[in-house]
Amino acid sequence: MVCPAEKITASAIVSLPLEITLLGTGTSQGIPVIGCHCPVCQSGDPKDRRLRTSAFIRCGDTAIVIDIGPDFRQQMLAQEIDDVHAVLITHEHNDHVSGLDDIRPINFLHQRDMPVYAHPRTIQELHRRFFYAFDPAYQYPGKPRVHSVPIDPQYDFQIGDIHVKPVLVDHGGMDVLGFRIGTLAYVTDAKVIPDASMDQLKNLDVLVLNALRKRKHDSHLTLVEAIELCEALQPKQCYLTHISHDMGLHQDVSRDLPPNIHLGYDGLTIKVA
Ligand SMILES: [Zn+2]
Ligand SMILES: [Zn+2]
Ligand SMILES: [Zn+2]
Repeated sequence: MVCPAEKITASAIVSLPLEITLLGTGTSQGIPVIGCHCPVCQSGDPKDRRLRTSAFIRCGDTAIVIDIGPDFRQQMLAQEIDDVHAVLITHEHNDHVSGLDDIRPINFLHQRDMPVYAHPRTIQELHRRFFYAFDPAYQYPGKPRVHSVPIDPQYDFQIGDIHVKPVLVDHGGMDVLGFRIGTLAYVTDAKVIPDASMDQLKNLDVLVLNALRKRKHDSHLTLVEAIELCEALQPKQCYLTHISHDMGLHQDVSRDLPPNIHLGYDGLTIKVA
């Protein structure tokens, strides 16, 4: 079985329900930022509180998370999620990987290892940083049970009911993986989207795209750059993520956005098909 937009035959298309929940939509410091008294960090609007960027995707019987940052535990508890079948990592920056140890309750509950899919460079770094988890030589009760699965960015891969197309983007000189699943694409920590990847992001129902703030940044799209990309790609709906407190209040920024572009917020679930 395949996700929407993946054809089995010309006459029979099986559409499995596909949905994404934004577990976190904040940049690396999260919002509120420790010690910050700006209007966003002081805001009473729950949409102005942003955990570190991550997403949960369910398609058919399969559930995955994209990135496992420092807020993973809180995110699972907030969304009452107690199982995922795989973790996909976009890149090795700490706000995307440092919650890896908190996979343990899922190991214990379901008695299985967790596959961690990532670019070979990211896997090498994960093995260095989380050597005790990945190296079978380290055995102790309660260690995270994980195994790494390298992603070749040139090839699609399948996790249960979820068919994934890797999409390479540039994050200030670092290759980062975005992912396309049917008519949904998730792209975070991009500054530039190469032409070949732009082609992979056409005809989308939903694009989740990073936009850090209004002011220029060397390795993240600004709000204006994200809007321009969206205008070029024409997804039906675009949700922005990886947002800094410098972006401004959710309510104020939302008011000025084009009708098909929205600021994401923590806990938002989007049904794709
Ligand atoms: Zn990041
Ligand atoms: Zn602030
Ligand atoms: Zn990053």
